[in-house]
Amino acid sequence: MLAGRRDVVDADQRIADEILGILFTGTGHELIGLGKPEHRLAWAQEHREWLWPDLRLDFSEHAYLLPIYQDEHPEIVASKASQMGLSEWAITDAFWAGDARGANVLYLLPGTGDVQDFSTARIGLAIEASEYIAGIISPDYADDSYRTQARDRQTLKRIRNRFLYIRHGSVKADGRAPHLKVAQIDMVIYDEYDEMDRRAPAIAAKRLGHSHLKWQRWISTPTLPDFGIDAELKASDFRQWHVRCASCGDDQPLLPFVNLIKQVDGAGRPTKWFHSRGHPEWPFVGCRKCGKPLNRTGEGRWIPTNIGPDRHGYQVSRLLSPRVDLSELIRAGQSYDEEAHRQWVNQDLGMPHQVGTGGYSATLLRGVQQPYAWPANSWRCAMGVDVGSVLHVVVRRFRKDGAGRQMRRAVHVATVDRFEDLDPLMRRFDVRQCVVDALPETREALRFAKRFDGKVKLAWYSAGSGAKRDEAAREKPTEEYMLDLDRTRTLDALWSFYRSGDIENSQMLGADNELHDHLQAMSRVVETDRNGNPVARWVSARADHYAHADNYANVALDRLGPPAEGDTAVLIAGDGKGNGRDREESAWR
Ligand SMILES: [Zn+2]
Repeated sequence: MLAGRRDVVDADQRIADEILGILFTGTGHELIGLGKPEHRLAWAQEHREWLWPDLRLDFSEHAYLLPIYQDEHPEIVASKASQMGLSEWAITDAFWAGDARGANVLYLLPGTGDVQDFSTARIGLAIEASEYIAGIISPDYADDSYRTQARDRQTLKRIRNRFLYIRHGSVKADGRAPHLKVAQIDMVIYDEYDEMDRRAPAIAAKRLGHSHLKWQRWISTPTLPDFGIDAELKASDFRQWHVRCASCGDDQPLLPFVNLIKQVDGAGRPTKWFHSRGHPEWPFVGCRKCGKPLNRTGEGRWIPTNIGPDRHGYQVSRLLSPRVDLSELIRAGQSYDEEAHRQWVNQDLGMPHQVGTGGYSATLLRGVQQPYAWPANSWRCAMGVDVGSVLHVVVRRFRKDGAGRQMRRAVHVATVDRFEDLDPLMRRFDVRQCVVDALPETREALRFAKRFDGKVKLAWYSAGSGAKRDEAAREKPTEEYMLDLDRTRTLDALWSFYRSGDIENSQMLGADNELHDHLQAMSRVVETDRNGNPVARWVSARADHYAHADNYANVALDRLGPPAEGDTAVLIAGDGKGNGRDREESAWR
């Protein structure tokens, strides 16, 4: 088991091997200060029976974990949903490798903050929960191997006479990573692999140097197809957990989009799933063949789907967890928010999520045009205003369709010349929330906001994750009127409303109209940032004013929220020929 993967053997290594030879014939391990050479599973059951002070290692409801604890292959990949017990497994692996296999271990996490949290919370509690581990661990070592700032402080644990290095995987712009210059190691654990600087794993792997073990573990929730953990999984034997249907005997892998969710809408949100007859609120995990419920937490087997690679890979789906609330899981997937949806696919389902590139196709836009006429006025509306040489205005309201779905109906699409022209629109459409471009006419916009105090917000786009708006553009007195919008995230949400069929635009717009033309001007592209991570952005080929007005209108609509029951304005359908106007009646008026 310890043979193999040895390319170069130098003198030190031969001595180490001789010592390990003594160790594994069962004489002398105490001599060199190592624990008994137990297998990982036995070691875990004996020494980490309590994972945390209040959490016991228990395979009765986690059958899928047992074979992973037994697996001592040099290279193991685990692509997982959140909270599947794999992080605890990785910590066990690190302690076991140090104690029973004499391995120096590098435990790599994405960021500096992760290192501190992991070291104090995870490692600290693991030591607290096991007298045995507490007995073989020496307290923190001063790590003088290089100079660090206080915030970069690293953690080093001594397991008998081996070391567990806990390091963050960030790399400087010039490609240096001094904190990864640790002594020779025998095993690297890449935890939350997808969040790491893409250059870190290669730097860390070099430290495996002449180790005769050269063990590597990749662990992460997946993010994108063919990226990070998903790429590593595909380069492994790709094991999926198979269960047998008690009704029809079909042996099958448990997959979220086969055994739970049967259909999704254009935005990837679940629309059909296995559920008890007449009770969509009671979902179950069903057989792909006969549709009967499967015992998802019972007996099963990991079966490789990729024959060839000498590397073990596990795809650990959320469906294997005994704790998951399936109706909660479905509900979470129905979010309108593109970012929440991505999190759901990655964290809740444990699947990679395609970062969509694309935009508004002519077919998509034709599909949202409905036969209704523009009303002369309306109630409880939301307005979005893009400010340029003219003001582009989109007004929308919630309207419940026959199936009880809240549609986002456009009731007014037009341009006006001046901010004063917005005032009558505010009254005509009973606008409760308005979002208006803060730039370039900040003063005008602010005056308008003050005329309709509490109903109007000035929007600034921020560039996305972490980016703050330019401090120079910030005027303190306007704070209460300001609204920070994540540009990509809100434009993603708008796109998702269009794709999921929640948007209604009147046929009166005509086949060629500016609103749809401006939407079509935009496309979603995915670029690579300097760390090699994919980042989505909306770019425009030409004028896109109405697209932003519509974006603001939908943000305003979300701020307003759908009307509460009993507060519903009932829309009586127009004549459908694009003539006349809708008559609206209100229960609350
Ligand atoms: Zn079946």
